[in-house]
Amino acid sequence: MAAKILDGKSLAAAVRAGVKQSVAALAARGIRPGLAVILAGDDPASRVYVRNKTRACEETGVRSTQFEYEASVREKELLERVATLNADPAVHGILVQLPLPEHIDAERVLEAVSPRKDVDGFHPSNLGALLAGRPKVVPCTPAGVMRLIEHAGIPLAGRRAVVLGRSAIVGKPLALLLLQKDATVAICHSKSKDIEMETKQADILIAAVGRPKLVGAAMVKPGACVIDVGVNRLADGSLAGDVDFNAVKDIAGWITPVPGGVGPMTIAMLLENCLKAAST
Ligand code: NAP
Repeated sequence: MAAKILDGKSLAAAVRAGVKQSVAALAARGIRPGLAVILAGDDPASRVYVRNKTRACEETGVRSTQFEYEASVREKELLERVATLNADPAVHGILVQLPLPEHIDAERVLEAVSPRKDVDGFHPSNLGALLAGRPKVVPCTPAGVMRLIEHAGIPLAGRRAVVLGRSAIVGKPLALLLLQKDATVAICHSKSKDIEMETKQADILIAAVGRPKLVGAAMVKPGACVIDVGVNRLADGSLAGDVDFNAVKDIAGWITPVPGGVGPMTIAMLLENCLKAAST
């Protein structure tokens, strides 16, 4: 039987509609959520991501301001900008678009963002709160994945979840969120042995690796929920996830498409984080 599609595009639209209503309610209290985006360098993918985030802000009434820098920008300049934005009461959220140019210490810039304005949830104090089981600001992509799973009513307690990828912004926080929902969680990475043996046992399989079509049909347990976080640009210019969608859709119980799955949810969660930062 073909898998049910987890439609991130329509769920994200519903989330944005909710944010829009809440933004209007905040306006009555004289508050307008404001997001500041720092973009350094000329990475084309980053430009597309920032454009999509800015559009979503416009749609929902969140004010967004963009600060663009050449790839040669000095770290000091970025740190000064972050300090100014930290002190600006009209700015509720600060987003530093990654990757930053290589000569910049991205960790240092992210750590400079006030944890209360860290709408990406990448600040060590927000990641630490998540580890401690008291999440404050949750990174947007993991939060979007959890919302998709919860919206579909897929049970997590006692189920086996396997996360492929252990980055600090996707794989690790996702594993913690799944653990918080009482799933039994395994994380695989590039040094893991026999990944297929792990994934075949997964009731929930999440791929956040960045390798096109890494997950094939033989790696998936029949009826599993398969979430594809990967976004990979192929040589012909098309996009592919980390999951071979056409092969896996006949085996999985649920599956996310790429595009139209996790991507739109990431932006929707960013707006929610911004709204929360402005409301508190
Ligand atoms: P990342 O920092 O490059 O991390 C990739 C992870 O995958 C690493 O932990 C790496 O292991 C692991 N890995 C690499 N090759 C592997 C293999 N053959 N088998 C198992 N694990 C392997 O990437 P990321 O930032 O987490 O992003 C992952 C993917 O998600 C990318 O395609 C990215 O574009 C996409 N993404 C999408 C969204 C969205 O909104 N849809 C948001 C963020 C990221 P090691 O740790 O051992 O190196």
